[in-house]
Amino acid sequence: MRFWVLESAAGNYAQVHRAECEHCQDGKKPQSGVWKGFEDYTQAMEHAAATERPVLQCALCHPERYG
Ligand SMILES: [Zn+2]
Repeated sequence: MRFWVLESAAGNYAQVHRAECEHCQDGKKPQSGVWKGFEDYTQAMEHAAATERPVLQCALCHPERYG
């Protein structure tokens, strides 16, 4: 999977990352929340939007530049 969405455990945001991001590590990085992976940036954004939480683009890996 190329893009991953982290839905925070507190439910207050959904954050999009690229797989190679050190905060994501292909969805294996332990984070407080649930990871879901996508091959396609558009699908990742659709999933993030469907959480009805604020959608954040990771400021480290900038997934929006690779969509
Ligand atoms: Zn990232």
